[in-house]
Amino acid sequence: MPELPEVETIVRQLNKKVKGFKLTDAWTDWPKTIKTHSLPQFRKEIKGREILHVKRRAKYIIIKLSGHKTMAIHQKISGHLLYGKWIPRKELIKLKDKELISKIKNNDKFDNQKWLPAENGPLADDPFNRHIRFILFLNNGKMIGLSDLRRFGKIYLADNDKIGSVGDIGRLGPEPLDPKFTFKKFKELFKNKKGKVKQVLMDPFFIAGIGNIYSDEILWYSGILPTHRVESLDTQDLKKIYKYIKFVLKKAIKAKGDSEQDYRKLDGTKGDFQNMTKAYQKTGQKCSKNDGGIIKRLKVGGRSAHYCPIHQK
Ligand SMILES: [Zn+2]
Repeated sequence: MPELPEVETIVRQLNKKVKGFKLTDAWTDWPKTIKTHSLPQFRKEIKGREILHVKRRAKYIIIKLSGHKTMAIHQKISGHLLYGKWIPRKELIKLKDKELISKIKNNDKFDNQKWLPAENGPLADDPFNRHIRFILFLNNGKMIGLSDLRRFGKIYLADNDKIGSVGDIGRLGPEPLDPKFTFKKFKELFKNKKGKVKQVLMDPFFIAGIGNIYSDEILWYSGILPTHRVESLDTQDLKKIYKYIKFVLKKAIKAKGDSEQDYRKLDGTKGDFQNMTKAYQKTGQKCSKNDGGIIKRLKVGGRSAHYCPIHQK
């Protein structure tokens, strides 16, 4: 699932590409994606609205529109937004691009997709970009598409002052990269908190945006076992975790996210963080601290945790 760095990357890239353009229409073959409106209502509501600004709250992409409306998109497990151009399948034959046509015709991965990429490149080549279930059309002829293999993505539209009450936005924990999120505030979160540290860090109502990848990485850097109970963490431990939350998330944003699984950048290419991970999915490999440890995996609350049994205590 995309976590804070992946969502932040998409948000930054959307601001560069789509700010100032107007929405002309929307399409989906999976109307359940839109949680607040029927598809006809949604299309009517967004038509002609300008994209003023895109920001992030936890793992939500928040799109501010003209006329006091806000759209919120949660990409969930396999969803990722892409920017480009797609055409209806029946129009494909009108294209002159023989290479693209034969590529699509000879690839059954496109079998259920009603809109196909109009150009050669990562939107056509990478199977993870071939599950377009939702499209926002822009007045520059381009589109924002949601590729969502498992169809869990969610889209909300509300008045600006109501957006805080859609989905679970109103209940989310603090933003770890907010400069106002001081160590003092971080420490206070742990008062009366119980549980295994990995599970606690992954709880979106405790702290926003950290999932399976980044909880493993943060704990590897902090030298703390994923199963360590938060009741027994001392101030020094918390200081390390606080420091490495910021360090790891910033490093991953710089790398433009982790594309080991479904996530891709807005243009359909891969981020780089999967080449920098220390613990996540490194089972059986030597710990890069050269401490003789071999990365192990265990289950914590139904999720896989990866850790070094030597330097993580
Ligand atoms: Zn180690």
